[in-house]
Amino acid sequence: MKIIVCVKQVPDTSGKVAVNPDGTLDRASMQTIINPDDLNAVEAALQLKDETGCEVKIVTMGPPPAEGMLREILAMGADSAVLVSAREFGGSDTYATSQIIAAAVNRIGVEKDDIVMCGRQAIDGDTAQVGPQIAEKLHLPQVTYVAELHKTGNDITVKRMLEDGYMTIKVKTPCLLTCIKELNAPRYMSVGGVFEAYSKPMDVFDYNALKDDPLIDATTIGLKGSPTNILTSFTPPAKGAGVMMDGAEKADCDKLAGMLAAKHII
Ligand SMILES: Cc1cc2nc3c(=O)[nH]c(=O)nc-3n(C[C@H](O)[C@H](O)[C@H](O)COP(=O)(O)OP(=O)(O)OC[C@H]3O[C@@H](n4cnc5c(N)ncnc54)[C@H](O)[C@@H]3O)c2cc1C
Repeated sequence: MKIIVCVKQVPDTSGKVAVNPDGTLDRASMQTIINPDDLNAVEAALQLKDETGCEVKIVTMGPPPAEGMLREILAMGADSAVLVSAREFGGSDTYATSQIIAAAVNRIGVEKDDIVMCGRQAIDGDTAQVGPQIAEKLHLPQVTYVAELHKTGNDITVKRMLEDGYMTIKVKTPCLLTCIKELNAPRYMSVGGVFEAYSKPMDVFDYNALKDDPLIDATTIGLKGSPTNILTSFTPPAKGAGVMMDGAEKADCDKLAGMLAAKHII
């Protein structure tokens, strides 16, 4: 049994978000982090590894510096990693991204006992489309918004989060799961893990490695193969300063009520 976890390196939006004059994200000047939901997917895979001794393989599509992120996850306990990286893949939208990642997963191979895991959503693109699209392209059953999971043989019982509650369903492997932060608390790298991370296997899949997969051709990858076009993007104007009231005086409450009434909120 193996678990393939798809992980994306994203800009750290908790700090200053740098935007180019044309409205695109200035990724080069921003710190990068591991996409938060993906860390929950990694932790879920490592917990299954702790229980069953299965293999955990990490896959990312990104530029060569994404190797650093993969080494961090190897230091957390994953067994091996694949960096999917080529000029031809640049500019891909979610459709093209999922074509390429699905081809990479095909090349790794999915067997009867295997699970593919993703985060629910990346904090930069924010679409939550890539996981479900990979599942469609690989013809795998999928469960999204996974908040709890238990594996017994080839059955996985999953508690998935809905807007107003939870749903418990059973799915058979092989399958794809998209994970949310309620699932677990991701572990830290260990000191021993950091030493081991540099001797664990890491493959690079470039265009040549994937070009024979039926999912890959010039019309399905990169900017040309991306059906989505960004027509315009802009930074919304900064909001004005807020008004602070401590609410201790009745006069404050009357003032607040007056302000809300003036805006037709009450
Ligand atoms: C027209 C267009 C052009 C774009 N051009 C670029 C570009 O030039 N450079 C660029 O960086 N982005 C570009 N993007 C953004 C890029 O397509 C998305 O960031 C990417 O497809 C993932 O979508 P998302 O961020 O919404 O991920 P989501 O669908 O929200 O991610 C869900 C999960 O899928 C998995 N996943 C997503 N992306 C990856 C990945 N790369 N590797 C491994 N797992 C992954 C993770 O598990 C993640 O948690 C472009 C988008 C559009 C629409």
